[in-house]
Amino acid sequence: MSSTPNGDSDEQLSVSEPKTWAAGVPAVAHALQYSLEQTSPRRTALTLLNMNQVDGIDCPGCAWPDPAPGHRHKNEYCENGAKHINDEATSSRVTADFFAQHPVSELAQQSDEWLNRQGRLTEPMVKRPGSDHYVPISWHDALEMVATELRALDSPDEAAFYTSGRVSNEAAFVLQLFARAFGTNNLPDCSNLCHESSGTALSETLGTGKGTVSLLDLHHADLIFVVGQNPGTNHPRQLSALEEAKRNGARIIAVNPLPEAGLFRFKNPQKPRGVIGRGVPIADQYLPIRLGGDLSFFRALNRLLLEAEDARPGEVLDHDFIAASTSGFEEFAEHARSTDWDTVLAETGLSRAEIEAVRDEVLRADRIVVCWAMGITQHRHAVPTIREMVNFLLLRGNVGRAGAGACPVRGHSNVQGDRTMGIWEQMPDHFLDALRDEFGFEPPRHHGFDAVNTIRAMHEGRIKVFLGVAGNFVRATPDSAVTEEAMRRCRLTAHVSTKLNRSHTVCGETALILPTLGRTEIDVQASGEQFVTVEDSMSEVHASHGRLEPASRVLLSEVAILARLANKTVHDTVDIPWQEFEDDYGTIRDRISRIVPGFHDFNARVVRPGGLRLPNPVNEGMFPTRTGTAIFTRNDGSAPTAPPRHLLLQTLRSHDQWNTVPYTNNDRYRGIHGSRRVVLVNAEDMDELGLAERDRVDLVSVWSDDVERRAPGFEVVAYPTPRGCAAAYYPETNVLVPLDSVAEVSNQPASKSVVVRLETVGAPVTAGRG
Ligand code: SF4
Repeated sequence: MSSTPNGDSDEQLSVSEPKTWAAGVPAVAHALQYSLEQTSPRRTALTLLNMNQVDGIDCPGCAWPDPAPGHRHKNEYCENGAKHINDEATSSRVTADFFAQHPVSELAQQSDEWLNRQGRLTEPMVKRPGSDHYVPISWHDALEMVATELRALDSPDEAAFYTSGRVSNEAAFVLQLFARAFGTNNLPDCSNLCHESSGTALSETLGTGKGTVSLLDLHHADLIFVVGQNPGTNHPRQLSALEEAKRNGARIIAVNPLPEAGLFRFKNPQKPRGVIGRGVPIADQYLPIRLGGDLSFFRALNRLLLEAEDARPGEVLDHDFIAASTSGFEEFAEHARSTDWDTVLAETGLSRAEIEAVRDEVLRADRIVVCWAMGITQHRHAVPTIREMVNFLLLRGNVGRAGAGACPVRGHSNVQGDRTMGIWEQMPDHFLDALRDEFGFEPPRHHGFDAVNTIRAMHEGRIKVFLGVAGNFVRATPDSAVTEEAMRRCRLTAHVSTKLNRSHTVCGETALILPTLGRTEIDVQASGEQFVTVEDSMSEVHASHGRLEPASRVLLSEVAILARLANKTVHDTVDIPWQEFEDDYGTIRDRISRIVPGFHDFNARVVRPGGLRLPNPVNEGMFPTRTGTAIFTRNDGSAPTAPPRHLLLQTLRSHDQWNTVPYTNNDRYRGIHGSRRVVLVNAEDMDELGLAERDRVDLVSVWSDDVERRAPGFEVVAYPTPRGCAAAYYPETNVLVPLDSVAEVSNQPASKSVVVRLETVGAPVTAGRG
């Protein structure tokens, strides 16, 4: 298969019925097939048998936690995790010869899938001003080049240091220390793009930016909400946890615009009944909510609970908890009682009977967990929506006790850990004070730029040097054309990467590729073999040990690259033992243990089987908010709407994709094969818009500025999505998300509520559903 960034592929779209169950034997077969296409059977066995095991390799796929030691399966991974890890373990190599054959202008025309498929980067490369080719450069000269550009800036705030969630705790700690020693808090990260809204809402209402549940809580909940989330594709082992919860008697309510396969039935391939049987039903009730209707849904549910309490005083709400541990109840209750049913029904697309049925489930449950992901966080009113979900949990005391709580499900494997390590443009003073006391310099106190503001600053020439550590910034971010223009305006762009991606083809005046070891690889430094640590979605911190020979002998670890760069840049202004950090990662963990709360005796505790769990004040009955209690809030905000003959578009991943990287053009669970340039539309909307199956359309987003944002050449596919709501794959449709369309307060791009019109182009393709 070959395809361009615009998706002109020599494959043909074919469409089959969407699947109604996830995993099973096909998942194993696809995982093995992809793995063996990437590398040898020996390397495949090495990665898979070590994956998510004690003393093994942490899966880079997502941040779902591992079962406790002694309870892990010998194949403790999912289809997607197996693909992701062997995508990194690939035997393909990108060498200097490759770059000699392929000018940057040609690489820029290739698809994300093609770029990824070329394999692992093997040596540092530079593209100099005026040149169309990357050429080799020594590590010394490459790092000297970055340091020289950084030191030449008029202000440290003219640099940005981006991180994706693949980066280990140790590398993240070194990176933020370097940035702050240099003098800036410009530390945008992928959390700005995925769960910033969760952190903002939870910090305000509960006093913690993280989820409050453990895997055991999920196993022992009575009722689990899965809201705005597609676990079958994005966190597949969550299905094992839901299966366990169901076995223990839990009920599950799925609230999501699309009827995703993993919400309905799970065939656990690790169990005989998952291989030969029909699998386990997941959702007991599925609510096909309109895009962005979740705030209305939870407001209505809260109103119903208050009314139930009126009818049966003392039996519905947890009055003791509300009185002892919360504030703001009366104002919240007054507001919730005013919730208008007409608005609720219009915004959710649900019936009152459906919502009342959910209330009845709630009234039967003592322990409730609410899980959510980017279907919630990427709306303009995401923060009030999450606050309202917290109201819901507080009403019946479902916070801070076993089997209950808030569960924001993170995507990238160490995105939560990176934030814990200080990767945030607005770290609190107590963290900065601790850095100062430990290292003897004064960190900058003014807030830096998040991802969206970094793009704005680059575009306006206020950021001149961009260093990206892991990730694929231009494909992860919104408003692709603006973002690419912003990158090109930089004086220097440098990427610490394992594989080729589109960000390497969108170059500043000078561009560097700094190739690094992957998490799967053996990392030997002066003191011997190293391991790194990561934190999962449930605050468990554990070690990850590389097992494979590095892809190239020239590669440096992320820690080594960052420590050497810091040494070259700030050695004369701060006295920090960068070389010691590179030589022995244990010395970094010693510093972390003295600076980051919850990490005391880090080196000793993290090597115990299973590592350590960070304390969450909420689970100790403490709410470090402005009132010292959990806070009920009044939440307003309308669901997004589209004008007549327009649709609301959500961007989403396919099943065969890891973050910004599609592996193929297939999306098995949704029945889409051979093309990613499809837009999923409700059949009645198609009739109303005069569209037929497989019509070719351009997607044009409508925003308050005069800029035309167009994603050309999509085929229309009828899909059971709610009326007025459409879906298409990211990153291809990031071009449609305006940079200024962000969640209130959190500044997270609103990629799930893009107003679009579909403009028909050319004649329809004739084939129908297969
Ligand atoms: S659920 Fe996530 S962490 Fe676990 S194996 Fe799958 S991709 Fe990896």
